[in-house]
Amino acid sequence: MTIIACTIDAIEPLTPTVNRVLLTPHTPINYQSGQYLQICLSDEDKRPFSIASHANSKQIELHIGASVADKYAGQALTHLQQLYAAKQPVLAEIGLGNAQLRVDSDRPLILLAGGTGFSYIYSIAQTLAKQQVNRPVFAYWGVRDQDALYHHPQMQQWANSNPLYTFVPVVQNPTTQWQGRTGLVHQAVLEDFASLADFDIYIAGPFAMAGVVRDAFVQHGAERENMFCDAFAYI
Ligand SMILES: Cc1cc2nc3c(=O)[nH]c(=O)nc-3n(C[C@H](O)[C@H](O)[C@H](O)COP(=O)(O)OP(=O)(O)OC[C@H]3O[C@@H](n4cnc5c(N)ncnc54)[C@H](O)[C@@H]3O)c2cc1C
Repeated sequence: MTIIACTIDAIEPLTPTVNRVLLTPHTPINYQSGQYLQICLSDEDKRPFSIASHANSKQIELHIGASVADKYAGQALTHLQQLYAAKQPVLAEIGLGNAQLRVDSDRPLILLAGGTGFSYIYSIAQTLAKQQVNRPVFAYWGVRDQDALYHHPQMQQWANSNPLYTFVPVVQNPTTQWQGRTGLVHQAVLEDFASLADFDIYIAGPFAMAGVVRDAFVQHGAERENMFCDAFAYI
């Protein structure tokens, strides 16, 4: 995999602990929706982040952070901030992973994100809309607290753009003001579908979530070969 220098165009907060980072590769690079890149902190230390932008967008968007201050993401962000301040490019390996959107399938889709795993499903949701894919798509985004739903309006707009698209935000620790779904995000999916046998399922989120979801969904009828999640390779 080639390492590419990228200009850091912007780093801006989405929440107190999650930042949006915009990069422009110096060399044009092809990547698919649902793939990730690795930010090279050094030759040995490379950190994976899902690409939030749609397939082959010239500018790459990342969402870096977690529900609480997270050392793993925090160190990558500090590295990016230092380079940004010095007007230096960052090195990245782009177009990694095997959980990219399968465009040749005609099955309905479930997109499941926990926390900043949202970046991954945001890319896929945008690409489906851009390609005017007319398959039912159910996008579920689970967060601990409501204020972590930083792209709620964008996802609502996406759902409003096509009657086949549905967006379901799920808050684990709701306040009394929250009127939507509550609990763990994968539980909402289990409640909504009698069987997952017919679906292509795309999953991103904390490693602990990926393991729980894989087992629960297979028990609920999902076909293992129709479940896509790069975190499966890490657990
Ligand atoms: C390929 C790859 C790509 C990555 N991309 C990114 C990225 O783009 N940005 C980034 O910052 N980090 C990324 N990471 C690192 C890591 O996945 C994230 O740090 C992590 O997803 C952050 O989770 P969170 O704190 O936002 O979620 P949390 O706030 O911990 O969880 C959010 C929701 O997920 C569900 N959930 C969490 N734990 C469980 C559980 N044990 N059982 C059931 N449900 C659960 C719940 O619904 C919960 O409300 C990536 C890692 C890999 C391997």
